[in-house]
Amino acid sequence: MLDNRKKIYSYETELINQGEYIRNNASHPETAPIYLTTAFNVEDLDELMARYREKGFCYNRNRNPNRTALAELMTYTEKGEDSIICSSGMAAISTTVLALTKAGDHIVSDRTLYGETIDIFSEIMDKYGVEVTFCDFTRMEEIRAAVRENTKIFYTETVSNPMISVPDLRAVAREAHSRGALFIVDNTFMTSVGITPISYGANIVVNSLTKFANGHSDAVCGAVTGKADLIEKMYHYQVLLGCTADAFTSWLVLRGMRTMQLRVEKQMENAAKLAAALEKNPYVKEVFHPSLKSHAQHDLALSQFGSTVRCGGMLSIRLEDDRDKLNQFIRSLDLAHYAMTLGGYRTTIAHPVSSSHYDTPEEERKKMGITSGLIRISTGIENAGDLIEDFTSALESVYGE
Ligand code: PLP
Repeated sequence: MLDNRKKIYSYETELINQGEYIRNNASHPETAPIYLTTAFNVEDLDELMARYREKGFCYNRNRNPNRTALAELMTYTEKGEDSIICSSGMAAISTTVLALTKAGDHIVSDRTLYGETIDIFSEIMDKYGVEVTFCDFTRMEEIRAAVRENTKIFYTETVSNPMISVPDLRAVAREAHSRGALFIVDNTFMTSVGITPISYGANIVVNSLTKFANGHSDAVCGAVTGKADLIEKMYHYQVLLGCTADAFTSWLVLRGMRTMQLRVEKQMENAAKLAAALEKNPYVKEVFHPSLKSHAQHDLALSQFGSTVRCGGMLSIRLEDDRDKLNQFIRSLDLAHYAMTLGGYRTTIAHPVSSSHYDTPEEERKKMGITSGLIRISTGIENAGDLIEDFTSALESVYGE
């Protein structure tokens, strides 16, 4: 759109028009600018129709260049055909299940998902007449027993939160497809650096980009990636629900993802080293990380992720169920901070009973293995030796008395 005003107007009119148009060539910046605009002008109705045809930029809730750029990167990295970028990981998950189900449908879901995904399934989907059966996705026989005639979706995470269990993606995909259902995988904990679930048969991959993907703990964002026809359905819902990511957030996440491989490789390596050190620590009852031989899906994890240093940046440790000691331990850590998030460049810890699974009934939590002494660790990119020293000296200072 050009400045097509024919003359100079009064001060108050010029105050809102001067400086609005970029006159020199600004078309090839080295890095993409942030398109902080709610709308894009058109010359006339013909141009408007052309924009509609080419799926161009008209109104921000429908399309924005920063969001489209991030969607392209997600589509490439997750090996899909198209993506939508949402205002959060939860927006990505809720848009996906709302767009792909109707009343009378059934979902078979992993029991140890992120707590709020479980809440969506048990509180919200129920209101729309969609039933959900939760089961252990590391046991194929449980999955088979849960399937019904009307099962439309199988839903899991590449590495579950917070028990760090690993489902056999190929086997679950085969089962889902043989029942005519779609297989949806949340890849937040691994990112496409660790694994691309679509290559293992997933139809849809959801990601909270808030976590490892962006990695800087400064933006909340989500994505859904899959076949173009499925993403088209979700795009329609997303526009109506209004849960699109804003331009600045999309720009931040795209920038964060430029270094995702460097960060996530180091985070995975640090997690394996920390897990090995903590497993030897006398004050730690159990360590959950797929790199360890003691992990129930160790062999599967190696075949899915490639090697012990590529088993993800998340681990959990089980300490005594003693709240005072836990508090002392948390306060004694120097480098690792308590944070209600994960995947950032600094190591963070969380207490699932007080955060992600705070609303989960105790009986359910116990079935999942989530005790009050369980601490979830998200490793950062610190020096591995410093990190191990931080944890072992905090443990010694509290439990060594
Ligand atoms: N999926 C997983 C595995 C998560 O851990 C989280 C949040 O921690 C989400 C989804 C939700 O992401 P967001 O907080 O971006 O909505």
